[in-house]
Amino acid sequence: MTILVSSALRSLVAAAALAIAMTVWLAAAPQATLAAAPAKLRLYVLDCGTIAAMDPTLFGLKPEEVGREVTFVTPCYLIVHPQGSLIWDVGQVPDQDIPDDGTEVVRQGLLKAKHRLAPQLAALGYQPKDITFVAMSHYHADHTANANLFAGSTWIVQQAEYDAMFSDAKLEIRSPETYGELKGAKRITLNNEDHDVFGDGTVIIKTAPGHTPGHQMLFVKLARFGPLLLAGDLYHLPEERTLDRVPSFDFDAAMTRQTRRKVDEFLHQTGATMWIQHDPPTYARLKKSPHYYD
Ligand SMILES: [Zn+2]
Repeated sequence: MTILVSSALRSLVAAAALAIAMTVWLAAAPQATLAAAPAKLRLYVLDCGTIAAMDPTLFGLKPEEVGREVTFVTPCYLIVHPQGSLIWDVGQVPDQDIPDDGTEVVRQGLLKAKHRLAPQLAALGYQPKDITFVAMSHYHADHTANANLFAGSTWIVQQAEYDAMFSDAKLEIRSPETYGELKGAKRITLNNEDHDVFGDGTVIIKTAPGHTPGHQMLFVKLARFGPLLLAGDLYHLPEERTLDRVPSFDFDAAMTRQTRRKVDEFLHQTGATMWIQHDPPTYARLKKSPHYYD
């Protein structure tokens, strides 16, 4: 009798446990591909390729002032906030041009990539349609390649940049076919101003014109890492900063210098670390996704 009762009880307990497990599984199943919003702000560094060796004079520098080959890295960044997400810069080779087998492709003679952006997001539990906001530092082709993937996100752009992106003028380093679909996206248009993305001061788009008419940067206040400025292409090489040089292809060199002075002041006030996005030694030291900064 005792044995029978305890056996029946065991079955009952097992059945109850199974029911609970099923309920939990069913509740979780619809969101299985979606990453849960983290409790704290995070920044992921993604691999969007490299740029082949270029002439240092493009950046206002003599070969002997640089003393090495001028090659670049091109990261993309995913910022995840409890209230949503932001993709910052979206690569230089469109995903559809990158083969599955990891072979490196080269576009426009120098823009290289072997990893697609969308699978890098998927590895973190995101699809492009899940991303709340898309913003690019500027319209140059090495920053816009996958913009069309984010036509369902809200696009944050400076008016001056928007005008350049869709202008009829023949502008260099522009690939309108990579971002044309953003024209129909929800948009936050800024008039040479900063923008607090989530309203709590932790993720701020900073206006930084000069390199292009509506160039912008991203300031992120990370709890553990501290304040961080993603400088876009305010600088490409650290020597532009130490030797006060401006790239020959900047939209307005005087405006770039004025912005740089303001940024120095901002860095001094906030104590923020600045990452020059294209600088290989800066990038080499960074934690790469799926690791993150918080
Ligand atoms: Zn660039």
